[in-house]
Amino acid sequence: MKLEFDHPEIRQSVRKLCADFPGPYWRAKDSEDAYPTEFIDALTQAGFLAALVPEAYGGSGLPLSAAAAILEEIHASGANGAACHAQMYIMGTVLRHGSEAQKQAVLPGIASGAIRLQAFGVTEPTSGTDTTRLRTQAVRKGDSYVVNGQKVFISRALQSDYMLLLARTTPRDQVKKSTQGMSVFLIDMRQALGKGLSIRPIPTMINHATNEIFFDDLEIPAASLVGVEGQGFDYILDGMNAERILIAAECIGDARFFIEKASAYAKERQVFGRPIGQNQGVQFPIARNWAEMAAARLMVAHAATLFEEGKPCGTEANTAKLLASEASWHAADTCLQTHGGYGFAREYDVERKFRETRLYQIAPISTNLILSHIATHVLGLPKSF
Ligand SMILES: Cc1cc2nc3c(=O)[nH]c(=O)nc-3n(C[C@H](O)[C@H](O)[C@H](O)COP(=O)(O)OP(=O)(O)OC[C@H]3O[C@@H](n4cnc5c(N)ncnc54)[C@H](O)[C@@H]3O)c2cc1C
Repeated sequence: MKLEFDHPEIRQSVRKLCADFPGPYWRAKDSEDAYPTEFIDALTQAGFLAALVPEAYGGSGLPLSAAAAILEEIHASGANGAACHAQMYIMGTVLRHGSEAQKQAVLPGIASGAIRLQAFGVTEPTSGTDTTRLRTQAVRKGDSYVVNGQKVFISRALQSDYMLLLARTTPRDQVKKSTQGMSVFLIDMRQALGKGLSIRPIPTMINHATNEIFFDDLEIPAASLVGVEGQGFDYILDGMNAERILIAAECIGDARFFIEKASAYAKERQVFGRPIGQNQGVQFPIARNWAEMAAARLMVAHAATLFEEGKPCGTEANTAKLLASEASWHAADTCLQTHGGYGFAREYDVERKFRETRLYQIAPISTNLILSHIATHVLGLPKSF
């Protein structure tokens, strides 16, 4: 493919590792709804999940673009990074705002693979995208906080040792701005499970290990608070730019997977005595997908550069995610169409990736909410909510 790729050595090593986890591995995990433990262990042992952990805490201290390269290649190979990606962006919140004790508690463990920080608890059943209306509350009682409430779609909670939780510490009607009065907590789930924390898996159309979580008078040490009480929403927003950029990189990987798969099939499949890819009706959609992916990829790289330079990048990170998720979804549709009936056959891996890439229109942020951000923050149009 005629594209410049940054971090070529990292990409090559990731592809080599992914080659040990081909389609049949992911198909089996998908049909069993099973967590890809062997893949995650291999990534951890190779040091890829410690890419963003600073060297002082035992990691590689690489820039965000290196993590983006890792996730893009995982997805381009046909694999899926969802089983581990959250650790890469959640960790940043602890790194930027956590106490030294919190950093020592998780960062060296993440780097060595002894600890997983993969669960990120924001979404709730009643508030949805309107995060400031979340109802889970943490009330300070002496040296503890007592947490009550419910979260939904909290991925990897059963496979994670720690969770980063966003909860209200001051009721919404007692703060000047609705974004105030929420706090972030780093919760040791191993201690909490069965003592006020319960987890119920949600079967979904993809293999994503997502769950409902219930907090019933869960008592956590006051030292679980990350940063300053009441400023949690800002900390989460802070981390979201990294999240958007990394998810966008996964979408680019998916788009490349679909484009390569569609092109290969279109060259090989003979109908009417010639390859189907000789028909412009078949080749033009794939070519358009490539153009869309290549343009979105530039936006992902631009957002990552701004992030690495410490510059504001909220609009760019969100735009990158919007464009990349559309590029991957369009490429998925073309790939399925190019394969005709065989696109529906599980052994081609197209239908699995098709289902998986659809998620990015909705999570971690839906397309409409990004358009709303652009409309109001960039174009100055009136707010609708
Ligand atoms: C597989 C999976 C994994 C997930 N993992 C996590 C996780 O680990 N942690 C976590 O916290 N969350 C997670 N989520 C939740 C995800 O972030 C939310 O589903 C997503 O943010 C959308 O929220 P919602 O489902 O409540 O949709 P809603 O807020 O109910 O929105 C429904 C639809 O209405 C649209 N809409 C709503 N309001 C407006 C408006 N004002 N203008 C225009 N359109 C609007 C939205 O765009 C959306 O399409 C996950 C979800 C899934 C499906």
